[in-house]
Amino acid sequence: MTEDIKEYSTVTFSRKSGGGKRGPSRHPEFKRPEKKQSGISRRNLLIGAGAIVGAGVLAALGVRLANEQEKSKAVGDKLAEYNKKEVELDVFLPRFEQGYSEFAKQAKQAITTRIKDPEIVKSLLVPFEIFEINKGNSVRNGYGVKRRDLEKRRSLEGSSELVLENPNFFFYELSGEGDTAGAFGPWSRTLRLKGNYDPKNLLDNTIITHELIHVAQDNQDRTTIPWGVYEPFHAPLPPGSRQRIIDIYEASAYVEEIEIMNVMTNGQFRELVTAKNEDVTKYRGILNSRAEQDSTVSLLIMVASQYYASPKTTPRGIGADFLEYIRDLHRKAGFEVYTRDAGGYAPVRQ
Ligand SMILES: [Zn+2]
Repeated sequence: MTEDIKEYSTVTFSRKSGGGKRGPSRHPEFKRPEKKQSGISRRNLLIGAGAIVGAGVLAALGVRLANEQEKSKAVGDKLAEYNKKEVELDVFLPRFEQGYSEFAKQAKQAITTRIKDPEIVKSLLVPFEIFEINKGNSVRNGYGVKRRDLEKRRSLEGSSELVLENPNFFFYELSGEGDTAGAFGPWSRTLRLKGNYDPKNLLDNTIITHELIHVAQDNQDRTTIPWGVYEPFHAPLPPGSRQRIIDIYEASAYVEEIEIMNVMTNGQFRELVTAKNEDVTKYRGILNSRAEQDSTVSLLIMVASQYYASPKTTPRGIGADFLEYIRDLHRKAGFEVYTRDAGGYAPVRQ
């Protein structure tokens, strides 16, 4: 799953990193609005010496003061909100990183001992490498970045441009109550984590692994697709627009998730799926997942059974059948389906 996380600025890579600094073009939504003069023009003040016009000027000044106060209150409220979330994430992040590191260690061991094809091993290890690199990102608390940016700009209007020194770096934020299990917003380069992450829960871990694959895909896109193509596709869409997914990206993220689930359960996951066992409690037992995650598990069983039945789909390549299945799954969930081609992104017609 990918998700647009809207209230954010343009994120670019520094020239040093080889990603090339992008901009200054931005999505129209991000243009700073023209400054209004609260209805007082120079002409009013010069010729409006009369009492009536003067009163009008005072009234207009009053409106402006009220506006400024409202705006600065809104900025203050937002700063307080970012600050609260930043502290919350500062507490959560070390616990998450320690838990996921331990999982990554075990997964790497299982992948390298159980899978013989070096190309497949290489591709399955990508998300763990991305995670490890991002530990060196001193600004990975996304709320801290937003707070410092707002402290500098003191305005909720317009946007800023953030430059990341390493194209592999990304930000973390916490998901809200009703949010999906995990999400990565390419535009803001933000991976959202659930506060109830359980390091012993294989589903929690593989959901994060799926999102880390999306980070890797975005790294690739940002450094290879022209900004003029990348930007209009990923920048926030007008309200009411359907969210977009890239078929091949979702397919490979699911393959990663399924393969890791299988090696980490010593092949039990595949055995259950291919035996057409649909008893979710059985899977809950081997994944150590929570009952509230049963619908996610059911979805994975469905996807995995298609995956195992599609002979041309492997961690090295996605077969046409499996790709069509992934497209259909997302169409039914209301997404607009795109594919990644040599020029960038192209809609997939039914
Ligand atoms: Zn996804």
